[in-house]
Amino acid sequence: MRFRLGVKELIEVLNLINGEFVATEECLENLNPATSKQTSVIPRSTASDVDAAVIAAKRAFPAWAVLSYEERADWLDKIADALEAKSEEIAALESMDTGKPISLARDVDAARSVANFRFFAEQVRELEVERFEMEDASNHVIMQPVGVAGLITPWNLPLYLLSWKIAPAIAMGNTVVAKPSELTPLTADLLARTLVDIRLPAGVVNIVHGFGHEAGQALTEHPDTRIISFTGGTATGKIVASTAAPMFKKLSLELGGKNSTIVFADADMEKTVSGVARAGLLNQGQVCLCGSRILVESSIYDQFLADLCEHIEAMKLGDPSDEDTELGSLVSKEHRSKVESFIQIAKDEGGVICTGGKRPDFEDGAFLEPTVISGLDINSTCSTEEIFGPVVVVHPFDTEEQAVAIANGVEYGLAASVWTTDLEKGRRVSEALDTGMVWVNTWLHRDLRTPFGGTKASGVGREGGRWSLSFYSETQNICIKR
Ligand code: NAD
Repeated sequence: MRFRLGVKELIEVLNLINGEFVATEECLENLNPATSKQTSVIPRSTASDVDAAVIAAKRAFPAWAVLSYEERADWLDKIADALEAKSEEIAALESMDTGKPISLARDVDAARSVANFRFFAEQVRELEVERFEMEDASNHVIMQPVGVAGLITPWNLPLYLLSWKIAPAIAMGNTVVAKPSELTPLTADLLARTLVDIRLPAGVVNIVHGFGHEAGQALTEHPDTRIISFTGGTATGKIVASTAAPMFKKLSLELGGKNSTIVFADADMEKTVSGVARAGLLNQGQVCLCGSRILVESSIYDQFLADLCEHIEAMKLGDPSDEDTELGSLVSKEHRSKVESFIQIAKDEGGVICTGGKRPDFEDGAFLEPTVISGLDINSTCSTEEIFGPVVVVHPFDTEEQAVAIANGVEYGLAASVWTTDLEKGRRVSEALDTGMVWVNTWLHRDLRTPFGGTKASGVGREGGRWSLSFYSETQNICIKR
């Protein structure tokens, strides 16, 4: 198979600091995971590069913070317009950098990155000062900008998650230093070029590239970053928390998940099979919300498992740049090895590979067949740990109470989905689940006004809608006595 997507010349990614593109002493190579060919060189930022970015953000803060919501919302709309004009470029770069199918990169990543800026522009335009009247005084609750926000993002939804943080942060009057994943820097670079093109005031958004333990760590521990918003793995989240919490920074942690998909016997089977496959495998299973732990009511277990495998086997795995590809490559060969090691553990622990489990016979990319595993103990490694790849485990359950107990029996609490035609049961089961989000008869159906985030090892805090506005600001009460 020959893959079309590629670059003739290496893209040179630079840091964006104070409105200028800046090189670092050392660089890193960045590959297209579907071809293993190098696409770009990116900065390997050190603590002093991060310091320069924070100084620029701090200098830009006073002038940005005094703009009105309306003025900042206009800037967000300008960014959205400029990104929208580059939607195809965003999709192509995102697909090349992550290995995800181009259709997904266009419909989800590019579209949502634009929508994030438009949405938060609208949100701050609608913000009203809350007032509490007393007999002799008035209380005004206002949301003040905080200062410099350090934003750290993962590789699975690069610009989607970066814009999900930058948009509310700057809308509320903060300035930012963002550190995108070193594996997927290309759309952050496109955003940087876009911000310079539209002449966003220098220093409002700074972007530094490089390793997490170097640039990410320097950003987290910098005394002048007063907000840290981190999305990534739970193990990294612990390091970020242990650095930022003793410094009393505002901290939001959006971490890993092991999300249950609960299928009741009364579910609409046709819609449920395709919905469950999508929930398990979107973006090659590399979405924190993926339902990789499928619990099926015993009376339909055998039939459901057979139908699910048949559906998954019909999904098109291949060249991410093909319009009809449904599953692309994983983000890197290193990550594929990690996912494969989980499949091996599942075999060792007595699991049955119902479909998949192997590398397809493609060019030199990080591809892996979508894999369904049954027969494991509910407390086995693959049934409880986040794999973050195209691997789902399937378990039977007998009663509603048992399904809830199994779903709650993991250290994570990000999301779940429940599939049933009995909507009262759907609501009841949802309320019993210890997760930040539950979908009934759907999955990843997002209204940006709603809270997003998890419980337990899936994170601390919520983002989305007014939760983002509140996180990216300091709430101040002013009591004026008459
Ligand atoms: P990761 O934790 O390895 O890296 C995330 C980011 O943190 C990267 O930019 C990385 O460079 C940086 N980083 C690494 N070490 C750091 C340190 N010591 N200090 C500061 N920053 C550091 O995660 P990943 O592999 O890029 O992403 C996959 C993980 O992200 C999965 O666990 C997934 O569930 C999670 N995720 C969660 C959400 C959510 O909203 N809950 C969304 C997407 C992904």
